[in-house]
Amino acid sequence: MIPFAGSPLNRASEKRTDSNWIESKRRDPSSLVLPMWRLEPLLLGPEKSAPPIKLGLLRPGIADSLAGAGAPCIFLGLDGDRGVFALDVSEASDPANVGPLAGLGYFRDARTAAQMVSIKDAAIIGQAKALIDWHQRHGFCPRCGAPTKMMDAGYRRLCGKCNAEHFPRVDPVVIMLATHGEACLVGRGKQFPPGMFSALAGFVEPGETIEEAVRRELMEEASVKVGEVTYYATQPWPFPSSLMIGCFAKAESRDAHADDNELAEVRWIERGVARELIEGKQVDGLRVPPPIAIAYHLIKTWALDEK
Ligand SMILES: [Zn+2]
Repeated sequence: MIPFAGSPLNRASEKRTDSNWIESKRRDPSSLVLPMWRLEPLLLGPEKSAPPIKLGLLRPGIADSLAGAGAPCIFLGLDGDRGVFALDVSEASDPANVGPLAGLGYFRDARTAAQMVSIKDAAIIGQAKALIDWHQRHGFCPRCGAPTKMMDAGYRRLCGKCNAEHFPRVDPVVIMLATHGEACLVGRGKQFPPGMFSALAGFVEPGETIEEAVRRELMEEASVKVGEVTYYATQPWPFPSSLMIGCFAKAESRDAHADDNELAEVRWIERGVARELIEGKQVDGLRVPPPIAIAYHLIKTWALDEK
C-alpha cells in the first residue's frame, strides 16, 4: 500500500448535505475528532515513542474549546457507525501544552506524522490536511472577491455575494519512471538534498492526457523521447492537493540531458543499483526517496521486476 492511499473510512458522501445528521454525529459522544493545528495532526503519547504512533482521534468536546467560531470542522467519514471529523484548531497559540489537549500528545507536520502512524491513519491525515488546507486558502471567491462560506460538512464553499460554488481541488501530477532495457532514469531537482534522485514529475496541463503529460515532461526535463506509457498507481499527495499519477514510460534511447531550469542532473541507473537504493543503501552517494513517496514504489516495482 502506498502511503496516503487506502483510507479505512466510509466517506458517506450522501450524508454531507444533511446538516441535522452531521450535527448529531458531531455531538455524538462515540464520534471521533482529529485536531489539526496549523495543518499538523495531533499524535498521542509522549514524544519520541516508537512507531506506530496513535493518531489523535479524540471524543468530541475535548478540542472544541480551542477552535475559533467558524473554524472548519470537516466530516471525514464513518468508521463503522462512528463519525470521524477533522477540526481546525489553528487559532490556539500552543494547544499541545496549554488547554484541554495539554499532556495528551503533540502536533507534527503531516508528512512526518504520516510516516509515524499506521498506513490507515496516514490516509486519514492526508484527507484532513488536504481539506483544511483548501479551506484556509479559499476564504474568498475567485470570481467576485467576496467571502465564501463552508458548506456540506467541508466539501463545498459558497460565495455569499455571487452564489458561485467552489469545490475542493485535486491537482493531477504525472510522476514517471522512464526505462530503457536494464536501466531507469532518475533526476535530481535543484532543491533536493545532495545525492537524492527521484522519478521525474510534473503537473498535467489543461487539454492534456496523462500519457501526453508523461511524454511532454520527459522531453522537457530530460530530452528523453518515450514510446509506450503504462499506468502504475495513484497516490493522494496533500502538499497541498496533488494526485500523483505514477507511470512507467519506455524510452527510445538512453540519450538524456537535464533541462537547466528544472533539474540539476539526470542519470540512468542499472537495475542492480536501483535494487540497492530501494533497500536504503547509498551507491556512489546516490539515494532515492523514502517509502512515503510513490517514486520509491515506482523504482522498487521496476527494480524487483514486478512490472
Ligand atoms: Zn463570488
